Amino acid sequence: MSHPLFDVSGRTALVTGSSRGIGLALARGLAEAGCTVVLNARDPDRLAEAASALPGDRIHTAVFDVTDAPAVAAGIADVEERVGPLDILVNNAGMQLRAPLLEFTEADWHRILDTNLTSAFLVGREAARRMTERGHGKIVNVCSLQSEVVRPGIAPYAATKGALKMLTKGMCADWGPYGVQVNGIGPGYIETELTRPLVADEEFSAWVRRRTPAGRWGRTEDLVGALLFLASPASDFMGGQILYVDGGMSSVL
Ligand code: NDP
Repeated sequence: MSHPLFDVSGRTALVTGSSRGIGLALARGLAEAGCTVVLNARDPDRLAEAASALPGDRIHTAVFDVTDAPAVAAGIADVEERVGPLDILVNNAGMQLRAPLLEFTEADWHRILDTNLTSAFLVGREAARRMTERGHGKIVNVCSLQSEVVRPGIAPYAATKGALKMLTKGMCADWGPYGVQVNGIGPGYIETELTRPLVADEEFSAWVRRRTPAGRWGRTEDLVGALLFLASPASDFMGGQILYVDGGMSSVL
């Protein structure tokens, strides 16, 4: 029998950006642990397909754009009315844009900032309005290895993820007194659609394997344990921390 400290069964969780990749794996992990899970993304068809592949009959979907403030407000209100009060929010939706900084356009700058950072503020604020009132809740922000370190060509991405780390700490400062724990996960290089061009680049892919003490790329399932910990009572006295799940990459030169 698993330890009760890690029991999340019966909780209701929303995972943003969960029609594929890391978000979908995190949603699956929560569903397998007994949560009612709400999946979110913009493409309704792909979202419905993802939801139908998850186990159990407590899977729901909510189609909204996490960068659109009125859509987020309506989306969270609708989820709570249809599914019930949210106990867990995973701010996972995100994107990558790779380009030398001198060629990076203002439009792309705003797009990546909105998608990776403003989204966590908008969805987090909307969920936390309700969670703080109820006196409990768990929020997990999906940060990145690039919250700490950067490589050429991804400065804007790293800027959003570094800021998301500090937003996580700030949310903890503001909402912790009301019983809402906010922490983050920092994935290393994980094979998904977002990293497909990097995986396809044999030289880069080999560099990732060499550079990672674990000797391989991460799989989306590698992140589930950290999420379940941060979503469960086992982490009740943790706040504003980022758990790096990167095969050890961020610890070595
Ligand atoms: P994917 O591109 O595979 O998936 C992104 C998901 O987010 C999709 O479901 C997409 O669906 C959704 N999404 C994107 N924009 C929006 C939006 N505006 N509103 C709602 N949903 C949106 O990415 P990953 O799974 O690789 O990444 C997930 C998170 O993990 C991101 O925050 C990323 O930065 C982070 N991360 C990833 C790493 C990796 O190596 N893969 C490493 C470190 C962090 P749709 O387009 O239909 O909306």
